[in-house]
Amino acid sequence: MSETLIRKKLLTWYKKNQRVLPWRKTDDPYRIWVSEVMLQQTRVATVIPYYERFIRRFPEPESLGAADLQEVLKHWEGLGYYARARNLHKAAGIVWKEHGGAVPSDDKDFLRLPGVGEYIAAAVLSIAFGKPRAAVDGNVKRVLSRLFLIPEAVNDSAKHKKFKKQADTLLDVSRPAAYNQAVMELGALICVPRNPECAVCPLPEHCRAFREGKTDEYPKRKAAKSVPVYHIAAAILFHNEKIFIVRRQEKGLLGGLWEFPGGKVKKGENAQAACIRELREKTALRAEVQSYLCRVKHAYTHFKIEMDVFLCAYISGAVLLKGPTDYRWVRKAEIRDYPFPKSHLKALARLFPAV
Ligand code: SF4
Repeated sequence: MSETLIRKKLLTWYKKNQRVLPWRKTDDPYRIWVSEVMLQQTRVATVIPYYERFIRRFPEPESLGAADLQEVLKHWEGLGYYARARNLHKAAGIVWKEHGGAVPSDDKDFLRLPGVGEYIAAAVLSIAFGKPRAAVDGNVKRVLSRLFLIPEAVNDSAKHKKFKKQADTLLDVSRPAAYNQAVMELGALICVPRNPECAVCPLPEHCRAFREGKTDEYPKRKAAKSVPVYHIAAAILFHNEKIFIVRRQEKGLLGGLWEFPGGKVKKGENAQAACIRELREKTALRAEVQSYLCRVKHAYTHFKIEMDVFLCAYISGAVLLKGPTDYRWVRKAEIRDYPFPKSHLKALARLFPAV
């Protein structure tokens, strides 16, 4: 009974309060899928311009599947978690070639696509095809945790099943698209991590955390492990008015992106020496440091980097790559044609503020 009331109140609230977002103006499963992939780990305001640019260039699976990966990564540049882009690119190719360009509505077929896991499948199948699948992301877990005082930590993947089970019980099977979006929207706008706005929430009388004065204590979280900080040195190498860049291997962190060669500073080594050594080890080029450009700090999910960037001049050698998969000597005007990780974009912005 209480569940029926919660669903009803949620949907009424959502109808009045939902944000106007570009992916809510379409019922195209491909566009809904793209938006859900972009929204993983990323804020709505950040996603909007990326989504619009991406859809303009790749309006259907065929144009994405047929595109060069580098162009896809360029459209993803700055959004992070680049495996999402690589998987989406591969998956779009499969949809185009094996499903005639139509995003599969069958769970098995959709889940077989690269990058499609339980959350993406539930979100897309419910929103685009009206299938009764409960989508459980961080916002949903927070709302459920407070509504039902769930003691398990929201960031403990071993406890995910508990939230999934609760979400399945609460799901409105007759309106799964609106229902899933309503819970996510409540988590994004009202039941926010700190100081939830219970005064304007549609559910306070059903919410155990609110009734028991425990909204600050929920959701429970596992203490985050402290992340290591790596000291990196990178070389911006100039020769004949061109700059040397290398491409990272396609698999792994930042796979397929371009960067300035470099690597970890060893214990007892200074950053300048590390920069020259890394350049030589990874490309066989000899160079000398001409000046220090800047230190760039950047945080990834499981570690942070502090990267010292040096401007270097070529001395000798022919390129022989060990690690990177490709290289280019590029002019200043061409450099922004290549997709770079955010840390290297920060260095680039220091070097050429107007590019
Ligand atoms: S009453 Fe407060 S804590 Fe409970 S669901 Fe609403 S916003 Fe969240």
